[in-house]
Amino acid sequence: MTALPTTSPAARLWIRNPQASFTANSLDASGGLVISGGIIVEVLAAGQLPSAPCQQTFDAGNHVLLPGLINTHHHFYQTLTRAWGPVANAPLFPWLQNLYPVWARLTPRDLELATTVALAELLLSGCTTAADHHYLFPDGLEHAIDVEVDVVRQLGMRATLTRGSMTLGTDDGGLPPQPTVQLPEVVLADSERLIRQYHERGDDAVIQIALAPCSPFSVTKEIMAESAAMAERLDVRLHTHLAETLDEEDFCREMFGLRTVDYLDSVGWLTGRTWLGHGIHFSDAEIARLGAAGTAVAHCPTSNMRLASGTARVLELEDAGVPVGLGVDGSASNDASNMILEARQALYLQRLRYGADVPVERALGWATRGSAAVLGRPGLGQLAPGMQADLALFRLDDLRFSGSHDPIAALLLCAADRADRVMVGGAWRVLDGQIPGLDIAGLIAEHSAAARKLVNG
Ligand SMILES: [Zn+2]
Repeated sequence: MTALPTTSPAARLWIRNPQASFTANSLDASGGLVISGGIIVEVLAAGQLPSAPCQQTFDAGNHVLLPGLINTHHHFYQTLTRAWGPVANAPLFPWLQNLYPVWARLTPRDLELATTVALAELLLSGCTTAADHHYLFPDGLEHAIDVEVDVVRQLGMRATLTRGSMTLGTDDGGLPPQPTVQLPEVVLADSERLIRQYHERGDDAVIQIALAPCSPFSVTKEIMAESAAMAERLDVRLHTHLAETLDEEDFCREMFGLRTVDYLDSVGWLTGRTWLGHGIHFSDAEIARLGAAGTAVAHCPTSNMRLASGTARVLELEDAGVPVGLGVDGSASNDASNMILEARQALYLQRLRYGADVPVERALGWATRGSAAVLGRPGLGQLAPGMQADLALFRLDDLRFSGSHDPIAALLLCAADRADRVMVGGAWRVLDGQIPGLDIAGLIAEHSAAARKLVNG
């Protein structure tokens, strides 16, 4: 793709008088925001003017303004196996067992295309920061995370890229086929290399690295414990799948003699450094333990419905002190990478569990401030002075919104699916619903061809 447009970092931009705004806090942004140097420097209440002249103004009278949405769980490579017939109607374990051999054929170019598709789709849905969990490193794809770093930078987004791993193959009682697993020393050496090469610190970090052994049924306890020790030593976060299905719970009891949270505790992961993909099947006592530890949960409602895994107890998790954010999950179990639609799914799934008074704003909070907490990014996820200028702006002039009244409610209830403008760190990355410089038609053609080739072997 060609270079993206940039604005002068020193200039002050007033995003003026939005049609409506959601700040993810108690501030009123009816008058808009002032952006300078990639930061939100002023949040203006109704009728309030910027405290100093602004060189640029964007009239947001036809836009609903949100903090950039944050995706906390994904597997970008899976965009190549969306809606694949043989697993279209399968639960998690057989779904995985059918897909592992296909995924084992992944090449660097496949991953580059898949990552571009996933991130472009997320960006167009209002997402500015995305986490990816990548745990496949077949021969020739040893530098998978490096490939992803390059794509994130080209698109001008932020990402927490996790160095995933699988070390427990079928020969040792695990679920993945033996050729897809790696030796622990290889995993640990590459993890340390990636952290030292790419991990940025501070509120404006573009790339962060986290360590992510895949799931209880695909890794050894040793790699879990050693990853936790490295995360502590190098001060990075930890991620894994946990309590996704009852099959997994049975596996933990049979393999380790432990329930999932006891297993997590036994390998040194019950800490504020950890975020868990899914987190569905917890008892009351386990929820209390997770809350006391500050262990976070990436709620993935669409995937959980698609695979019939269960319903996460999100309100109880939050009330116990567990940070909760949203994840679209991998594209073979969602199969869309759309963050604003995921907020709608979360709202509706949690209403089924808790009742119709779960507010729209609470679901938007999970997609923004909650997700920022899950990824350990305090400078993201809210509209407030000092926060990074990561924004999503939606128009409500499409057919699906016609006749709607409350603009914030309309975003989720009328199923907004595409942002009109998206800003990351003060730079516009989506304009008029398009990513400048990205040839979407060409990308679709090449990605689709790669997807067909991958499943056909
Ligand atoms: Zn996942």
